Amino acid sequence: MEMQFTLKKYFGYTQFRPYQKEIIEKILDGKDCLIIMATGSGKSLCYQVPPLITGKAAVVISPLISLMLDQVMALKQRGIKADYLSSAQTDRGVQSNAELGHYDILYITPEKACALPTSFWSRLLKAGMCLLAVDEAHCISEWGHDFRVEYKQLDKLRNVLLNVPFVGLTATATEKVRSDIINSLLMKDHHVAIGSFDRKNLFYGVKSFSRSSQFVDQLVEEISKYVDNANSTIVYCTTVKDTEEIFKSLLEAGIKAGIYHGQMANKAREEAHRSFIRDEFYVMVATVAFGMGIDKPNVRYVIHYGCPKSLESYYQESGRCGRDGVPSACWLYYTRSDFAKADFYSAEARSASQRKAIMEAFSAAQHYCMLSTCRRKYLLDYFADEYAHDECGNCDICTSSMKEKDLSREAFLLMACIQSCGGRWGLNLPIGILRGSRSKKIVDAQFDKLPFHGLGKELSANWWKGLAYQLISRDYLVETFKDMYKTVSVSEKGLQFLRSSSPDHQPPLFLPETPGMDL
Ligand code: ADP
Ligand code: ZN
Repeated sequence: MEMQFTLKKYFGYTQFRPYQKEIIEKILDGKDCLIIMATGSGKSLCYQVPPLITGKAAVVISPLISLMLDQVMALKQRGIKADYLSSAQTDRGVQSNAELGHYDILYITPEKACALPTSFWSRLLKAGMCLLAVDEAHCISEWGHDFRVEYKQLDKLRNVLLNVPFVGLTATATEKVRSDIINSLLMKDHHVAIGSFDRKNLFYGVKSFSRSSQFVDQLVEEISKYVDNANSTIVYCTTVKDTEEIFKSLLEAGIKAGIYHGQMANKAREEAHRSFIRDEFYVMVATVAFGMGIDKPNVRYVIHYGCPKSLESYYQESGRCGRDGVPSACWLYYTRSDFAKADFYSAEARSASQRKAIMEAFSAAQHYCMLSTCRRKYLLDYFADEYAHDECGNCDICTSSMKEKDLSREAFLLMACIQSCGGRWGLNLPIGILRGSRSKKIVDAQFDKLPFHGLGKELSANWWKGLAYQLISRDYLVETFKDMYKTVSVSEKGLQFLRSSSPDHQPPLFLPETPGMDL
C-alpha cells in the first residue's frame, strides 16, 4: 500500500512494472539483489523507491558523471532530495550534507566511493542508509564489454557497510558476467531478478556494405527518410573518423545532426548529449562513448556503421531504440574488413583470459552479422533468455528476405530489357520501361515500343532495384563505373540465362525476395 502510494506521489505512476515490486520488497527485507533487465525496463526505480519509504539514504555507484547529473536533476524535479559526489569536486558541501542525512539518494562515482574514508561511511550509516546500488554492474566483470578497474574494488565497502543490502543492476546477462558480479560484490543469499530481454517493438536487420563515398551518400539518403521532429536516429560508428565523415555528409545534406566521441572535450560532449535529449537535432552520430543513461523515448532508428565489438554492446546500444514501445528499427551495416579488427580489440586485454573473452564476444557479433536464421532468437539465446520460437516475424530474416522464391520471369524481364537498351544505362531507365514510364528519355529513344514496356508495373521501382542488386551479386548483371556514372549490363552468365529462356518460359531462378530497397 505504502509502496503504491510512494510510486504515485513521487513518480506519478499507478502501477509497478514487472519485477519492480518484488525487488523493492526484497531490498526492504535487507536482501542483496541482482537485477538483470533490458535497458529501459525500469531498473532505476528499484533503488529509488526504498529511500522514500524508509527515510534512509540510497547510495548509488554510477560510472558516468553526465548520467548522474541527469538523474539528480530529474529526481530533484520530483521533489526527491538527491545529489552526487565525484573526485572532481573540491567543495565538501555534499559530503557533509550526506553525513548529516540530508539526502534520499546520493550518487557516487566508483573512484570516489573507493577514496572516501571509513569515517564518511560510518557517519552515513549512522544517519541512515537503506541500500548500496551498483549501476551498470557489468563494469565489474572482465567478461563484460566495459570493464572498469575501480569497480573491482567496490568489495572493500562490504566490510564497512555491514547489513546494508547491495543491489547490482545491469542489462548484460551472460552467465559469466552474472557470476562475476555476484562474486565481486560478495553477494550472499541474494535475490536474482532476470527480466525478459525481448524488445518486441524492435526490428533487427543486418546489411553488408563496401566502404565508399557512394555508400555514405546512400546511408544519408536512407536516414533522411526517417528524419522529422518526432523521431531521432543514432548512428554508432566504430571510429572517430567515421563519425566525422558521416556527420559532415548529414550536414551537407541539410539534416540537423550532432556528433559525440571520446576525443571531444567533456563540455562539448555534455552539450551534444543535452541537445540530443532536447530534440535540437535529429541524428546523433557517435562512437560507443555515447552510451549509458540515454533515456530518450523517441529514438526510432539505431544504425551501427561497422560491426560492433561484442553482442553485449550491440544489444545495449541498439536497446536505446524505441524505449517508448513504438515500433523502431535497429540496422547493422558491416563490411568484411571489420572482421579483421579482432587483433585490434584484443590488444586492450590485460590477461590471457580477458583476451579470450574479447575474442569470443567479437566472434559472437560477427556470427550475428552472418546469420541466416532469426536474429532475435540468436540474440535472446545468447543472453540465456531462451526464445521459444524459431522465427520472430520482426527481423530481416523472418520478414522474408531470405525466403527464396522463383523469380525467373522477373529476372528474365529485367535482363532482357537491359540487353535491349544496349546495356548503356543505369538501373532507372530499364526499370522505368518495365514500369510503363513515358518519360521524355524513354519516348525519345522509342523504348516505349519495346515488348517489355509496362510488363512490370505491378511491382515498385524499389522492388526492381532490389532484384537488380540480387542479380548483380550473383553475376547475372555487371555494374560499371564511367565518369562517376554507373551503367548496368548483362554478363555472360546473364546472356546464357536469356538464351535458354523464351518470353513464356524461363529456367527456374530462386532468389531472396527483397522487400523494398533497403540499401
Ligand atoms: P533502465 O534503468 O532499466 O534502463 P529506467 O529506470 O531508466 O530503465 O526506466 C525507463 C523508463 O521507464 C523511465 O522513463 C522511467 O521513468 C519509466 N518507468 C519506470 N518504472 C515505471 C513504471 N512503474 N510505470 C511507468 N513508467 C516507468
Ligand atoms: Zn526473426
